[in-house]
Amino acid sequence: MPIYEYRCSQCQRVNSFLILKETPLDSLQCKGCGSQDLSRVLSKFAYHKSEASRIDEYDPNKRHGSEFYKDTRNIGLHAQNRMKELGVDLGSQFDAVVDKARSGELIDI
Ligand SMILES: [Zn+2]
Repeated sequence: MPIYEYRCSQCQRVNSFLILKETPLDSLQCKGCGSQDLSRVLSKFAYHKSEASRIDEYDPNKRHGSEFYKDTRNIGLHAQNRMKELGVDLGSQFDAVVDKARSGELIDI
């Protein structure tokens, strides 16, 4: 769920909002005092993305350093992203291969 936290600069309350694509950001209001003077809080929520949104947000044109691949969840992301773009359903077999790669098992295709 795309939940973001915003801190109210009037009363310092931290508000959590479910932000959908169609949610106009200027419609957000502090639930405590009603102020619209809110600023985004970068919380741990940002790292708890669903697998689907990780794939959606993955930018194949961006260069990823070695840090990127230290997160084993990113292994196979490029392939998944490409296949999704192409509308290819890789099926459970591919997912199993990616899972194995991520867990460091040898891949035998
Ligand atoms: Zn407030």
